Amino acid sequence: MNPDELGALIAGSGLLFGLVMTLVSVVIPIVAYWKIIGKTGHPAPLALVILFPLAGLVLLYWLAFSEWPALNRGRLAPAPVPMPPPVYPPAPAYPEPPVAAAPQTPQPGFRFCTGCGVSLEGIERFCANCGKPVNPGG
Ligand SMILES: [Zn+2]
Repeated sequence: MNPDELGALIAGSGLLFGLVMTLVSVVIPIVAYWKIIGKTGHPAPLALVILFPLAGLVLLYWLAFSEWPALNRGRLAPAPVPMPPPVYPPAPAYPEPPVAAAPQTPQPGFRFCTGCGVSLEGIERFCANCGKPVNPGG
């Protein structure tokens, strides 16, 4: 390797190192500033300001002390108006449904013998007084 090649290699290494340092110290911060400024509501391309010497410091302080439009949007948004309760028309007055009548069961003890007219208990098959067959259910 002659001195010229060595010099070229060193120069190339320095150039590569310079590119890497540029990437780390400029491009990566620009990406972060871009995202942060965008979230504040300011135009995100303001991040490119840090390409100028000392401008990054100024931009940082400007971000720290400036009003953020994103916050103002939330502050100035009108408070949500609570929904009024829905007003329903009064329900029509329906008549009370008729209470279902209890099923009529044959009441024993309220029958009378058709022969002699004596009161029957309703369970016997023949009249105890005259012996006439009692009509069941009648
Ligand atoms: Zn009888």
